Amino acid sequence: MTRYIFITGGVASSLGKGIASAALGALLQSRGYSVKLRKLDPYLNVDPGTMSPYQHGEVFVTEDGTETDLDLGHYERFTDVNSSVQDNITTGQIYNKVIERERRGDYLGGTVQIIPHVTDQIKEFIVNNNKNVDFCLCEIGGTVGDIEGLPFFEAIRQLGNELPSSKTCFVHLTLVPYIAAAGEVKTKPTQHSVKELRSIGIQPDVLVCRSEKEIDRSDIKKIAIFCNVSENSVIQATDVNTIYATPKVYMKNGFDTQVLKSMNIKKPSKINLRKWNKVVNSINNPKGEVNIAVVGKYIGLKDAYKSLTEALTHGGIANDVRVNIHWIDSEKIKNKSNIRKLKFMSGILVPGGFGERGVEGKILAINYARLNKIPYFGICFGMQLAVIEAARNLAKIKDANSSEFSKTKNPVIGLMTEWEKDQQKFVRSNASDYGGTMRLGSYPATLKSRSLVSKIYKYTNIKERHRHRYEVNINYKSDLEKSGLKFTGMSPDGLLTEVVELNDHPWFVGVQFHPELKSRPFNPHPLFASFIKASINVKS
Ligand code: GLN
Repeated sequence: MTRYIFITGGVASSLGKGIASAALGALLQSRGYSVKLRKLDPYLNVDPGTMSPYQHGEVFVTEDGTETDLDLGHYERFTDVNSSVQDNITTGQIYNKVIERERRGDYLGGTVQIIPHVTDQIKEFIVNNNKNVDFCLCEIGGTVGDIEGLPFFEAIRQLGNELPSSKTCFVHLTLVPYIAAAGEVKTKPTQHSVKELRSIGIQPDVLVCRSEKEIDRSDIKKIAIFCNVSENSVIQATDVNTIYATPKVYMKNGFDTQVLKSMNIKKPSKINLRKWNKVVNSINNPKGEVNIAVVGKYIGLKDAYKSLTEALTHGGIANDVRVNIHWIDSEKIKNKSNIRKLKFMSGILVPGGFGERGVEGKILAINYARLNKIPYFGICFGMQLAVIEAARNLAKIKDANSSEFSKTKNPVIGLMTEWEKDQQKFVRSNASDYGGTMRLGSYPATLKSRSLVSKIYKYTNIKERHRHRYEVNINYKSDLEKSGLKFTGMSPDGLLTEVVELNDHPWFVGVQFHPELKSRPFNPHPLFASFIKASINVKS
């Protein structure tokens, strides 16, 4: 029977609950268990797909095309287990389901209430489809005490009663702040947070205490007494220089063994952390460094490009170099003289994006990379803009643009109106809903043999994850090819452009998909590994 580990947070947000959950998953895996991770988000949005990256960070996309919270990206990177539509839920989705059921008459005229109807729906989500999984780790978004989180806490409390005690574990992540003026760490916020949790009926089994300074024995003792846990169940989680060091640090501090002990597994099987040691070793002992410019719009909030940042780090791991990312605000690249910063870069990357703001700056950066033979990697929007740049400056279609933000007569990038997946037909128009209506998830592409990209992948049939509304307008393909832009990856029916590249350039690749979503620290994505390798060869 599957065991359930519930991870809640207190004191403050942004303590790294997602990474703690992912690292615990990785540790259990390293002991030979199978794991699955789920995220329960208490906000009312139906999915994070339409939420601002400024507020919410990146939207992670799964193989099956679900737009999810960025924590699912951590889960996948740490455990290499692909998430699905069943692994992220929001209050919005729960309410949608409950109301749908009510309309259908499923509740037989009864009064529909938070308890039991909403909580039942949450419990159904948690326990659904966990066959053959040893551990299902469920992270509750937000912090204890948030009004919208209450039904979720109530649901896991109920599960704690309904399931045998050896099948559940409650982990609570808190902050133990260091007060410089007093020169000591403070345990009171943790005590209050656990008090709050206990007041809604949940006694944590294990506490994970984030702290910038070492917490000494007497403070651990204090936390244990006031929070009603054993001293061994108070796990220190001091800051680490790379998130990939967390599994090892947590293991050393007894996190996984304590979790297992609380579920009556007293003699867990041996742990093998070899692959994690290799990753951390490579990050901590680079043989060189490389400077990569990421030219984007949301550079104020790094979380907006979480998977991209990680994938670049993985590309560095593959080549034993440190990747220094230079975030460049595309709105500030107004003219060619402002582009000077790019001179010192070994590689230029334009990531995914939406809307008109900053577009011309990105196109200037692409133009600079093309003319100066600097490795260029265009991802989704970055690929579409590379096509526009080539159309304007190579094919001399001066007003080439995207119909996403222009009424040009030459939309080299246009709205995709119809396509098929798994024998299902999708139809879109400008009037379609905004949420969940993009080309989402994994789609196949066929690569041209002998192209740079097929050499990088080492095969010609690939599958990558998508998230976009617009496509390269196939009517311009032959003009663009004549002018030098090569279409080296297409959908199997040959209608949708997946990859473009330039021949007379050391490394110029644009991809319509998001390869960063499939990169793993111990299995870097070949495109990122190759891009970083090409950039190492450029003097900066
Ligand atoms: N805005 C573009 C589109 O919708 C690109 C999206 C993206 O980069 N993810 O097609």
